[in-house]
Amino acid sequence: MRREQLIAEVIRNLETPPGVLAFSPTLEEHYRTAISDRRRRSMIIASSIGLSVLAAFVVQRAFFTDTSADPETFRRWLATMAAIGAVSFLTLVVTALSRTHRAIDRATISGVVAVGALVCVGFRVESGAAATVGIYCFMMVPLAAADLASLHFRQALTAIVVVDVIYAVALVGDPEFDMTLHVPALLLVISVSAMTLWGNWRDDRDHRALFLFLTRERLLSEDTAERNAELREMTTLDPLTGIPNRRAFEERFAETMAAPHDATLAVVMIDIDHFKAFNDHYGHVEGDRCLIAVARALAAEMRGNADFIARLGGEEFVALAPGLGRDDVVTVLERLRRAVEKLSIPHAGIDGADGLVTVSLGCALVENGDPRARRRVLERADAALYAAKHAGRNRWTIAPDAAADQTGKPA
Ligand code: GH3
Ligand code: MG
Ligand code: MG
Repeated sequence: MRREQLIAEVIRNLETPPGVLAFSPTLEEHYRTAISDRRRRSMIIASSIGLSVLAAFVVQRAFFTDTSADPETFRRWLATMAAIGAVSFLTLVVTALSRTHRAIDRATISGVVAVGALVCVGFRVESGAAATVGIYCFMMVPLAAADLASLHFRQALTAIVVVDVIYAVALVGDPEFDMTLHVPALLLVISVSAMTLWGNWRDDRDHRALFLFLTRERLLSEDTAERNAELREMTTLDPLTGIPNRRAFEERFAETMAAPHDATLAVVMIDIDHFKAFNDHYGHVEGDRCLIAVARALAAEMRGNADFIARLGGEEFVALAPGLGRDDVVTVLERLRRAVEKLSIPHAGIDGADGLVTVSLGCALVENGDPRARRRVLERADAALYAAKHAGRNRWTIAPDAAADQTGKPA
């Protein structure tokens, strides 16, 4: 589902009166998926506690009570306990391995119902007070499952009603059933079940309301962040070449200048040679293609996030390369010049040139702690570019004053 649809769905659900414990199908799927991990964890904890209690119960009965009087009944009781233990363990394993919330729900409910049925079958092999007390003890299982496994209201209702009916049938079917003893006990069980369900209903309702609010906030903030990113891209990228534009350069330039840097910062102005003639000869569309190719070739020479290149406008670019050693500057400039030359874009619009599209580069260096050089760096880079053009184009010049004047010519 797309985000806008999901937001609309969440808002629609927020407007439905509280107490309705179901969302529309898609949102219900989202809700249950979102909380299924938490439920898986609580089911594992609940089943583990249940299994430990069961083991303690069996050990207590087997070792600390006299079972020699009726070994056959004890043997069958032990078999029942083993079956209950196996079902609980299986429920634990299925829950732990479940990948979907539906599998967790099914494992929980079928585990609880199976344990309930086994208890009744098992305890009915004995009769008398001990069996009845056993059944009453196990009535705690669906209540504990509803609480500990944070079952949704409808599932808790199903599990509790089904298991309570099984227990009631087993108790009422007891030949020694004594109304005066059992009716108060059954009423107690029904009221505890009702209280558990009431708490469960409130929990489910509150969780759902919280989920709706949190989901709405999350979706809206994601939406805003995405729009902001799009807007930022629109205002900072040059639509023709896809590289940063003048506005982005100005921001980055200000940041770079404000940040302290230990090594040399190179500011490089780059201008395509005889581009007007290229346009006149090949036309504007071809001129645009050439601009895109040159921009990509220059951008490909930049080192990750440290370097920066932008299109200032027309056929002029500017690059920032911080953290360079003095010798690296020459290498970088030559690499940029060569990258454009290597594109081998024919340029038949001028006489006397070697017939390829080339660039001229003017570089100004800023050393750390030289505020005067910082302020004038763009003018110096521009002057260096002018010098490169004047010296014959397809070459780079490093502005004097920051270091010795150097000029690189094509090989
Ligand atoms: P030089 O070697 O001295 O730089 O000569 P040049 O012809 O490149 O210099 P000039 O600045 O006179 O020409 C720039 C040309 O760039 C003018 C214009 O036709 C062209 N231009 C500017 N922006 C665009 C654009 O977005 N697309 C195209 N196709 N051409 C552009
Ligand atoms: Mg030019
Ligand atoms: Mg120009």
